[in-house]
Amino acid sequence: MVIAHRGACGYLPEHTLVSKALAFAMGADYLEQDVIATRDGALVVLHDIILDNVSDVADVFPRRARDDGHYYCIDFDLDEIRTLRISERRNPDGKRKFPGRFSLNSGRFGIVTLEEEIRFIQGLNRSTGKNVGIYPEIKQPQWHRSQGIDITADILHMLERYGYRSSSDPVYLQCFDHEELARVRKEFGARIKVIQLMNSREDYPALEEIARYAQGIGVSIGMLCTGIDGDHQPILSSLPDEAREAGLAVHAYTFRADKLPDGIPDFASLLELFVSRLKVDGLFTDFPDLAVDWLKQAPDNAIPSSNAASQEM
Ligand code: CA
Repeated sequence: MVIAHRGACGYLPEHTLVSKALAFAMGADYLEQDVIATRDGALVVLHDIILDNVSDVADVFPRRARDDGHYYCIDFDLDEIRTLRISERRNPDGKRKFPGRFSLNSGRFGIVTLEEEIRFIQGLNRSTGKNVGIYPEIKQPQWHRSQGIDITADILHMLERYGYRSSSDPVYLQCFDHEELARVRKEFGARIKVIQLMNSREDYPALEEIARYAQGIGVSIGMLCTGIDGDHQPILSSLPDEAREAGLAVHAYTFRADKLPDGIPDFASLLELFVSRLKVDGLFTDFPDLAVDWLKQAPDNAIPSSNAASQEM
C-alpha cells in the first residue's frame, strides 16, 4: 500500500492541493494529512504547529511571533492563514531542506483546511471512479488541549461528517500519542482504522496492548533496518514479525529517493529490502510514482497485503 507522505512532496510543496492531486494521479492508495488547528478552531493541513518553515508568515505578519521567535498557527484565525503563501520546506537558514526539490517561493500555493482536502479527494474519487483513502494524523493533541482545542474530537467529527465511520472505510487515523489513540476508542467509540505511530520501542505500550486499539503500527525505517553490518548487509529488526504476531499491520516511514539510509545504494534497493524482505504492509513515501512503479514490476510474492486486505481491518 502506497501512502503519499504529505502528498507527492518530492515534487511539489508538501500538503498543497496540487501535491495531493499529483499523488492521486500517480496512483497512491492513501493521501496523508497532518492536522493542526487555528485560533478560531479550523482544522488545517500542515506538518508543524509553527508556520515558519513552509510559509511567508514572517513577511506578512512580522509582529506576530511568540517570545520564542516562532509563528504558531494557533495564534492566527483561518482568514489570516488563508493570506499566507506556502513554499517548499526551508531549513532555519532559509535554504531548501531538500535541495533537489521544487523551487522556493515560486507559485501561489495556499494552506488547505482538512474539510477542503477531504472534499477535494472525494471529488477526485467521484470523477475517476477510484477510492483513494485519507490518512490523517492528529498532531500534538495534548499541546492543542493546553491551547484550548480538543483537536481529536474535532477531527473525528469531521471524519464522521464525510462518511469515514467504520473499519471498512478508506481511512487510517494516525498519532504518536498512545493515550490519545486509546481515547479515540474508549471515549469517542470510533470504529475507523487506527495506526499507532512509533519512533522508538521504549516509549510505547507492548504490541499486544497496542493491538487492543490499533490495526497497525507506523514505524520509522530506522527502527526496521538498524544499520549495516561488517559484510555490508542490512541489520533487520524482528519488529515486523512481532507486530504480525500481535495482529498488527506495519506501515513504515519515510521512503525518500533523495535521502536514502546509509548503505542503501538506490530507491529500488530500499523498496526491495522493506517490501520483499521485511514485508511491510504500507509505505509512506514522498515519491509515490516510484513506489507504485516498483510495486507493479515486483514479483507477486513480494507484494504485501495491500489494499484489499487492509480494507478488511
Ligand atoms: Ca505525518
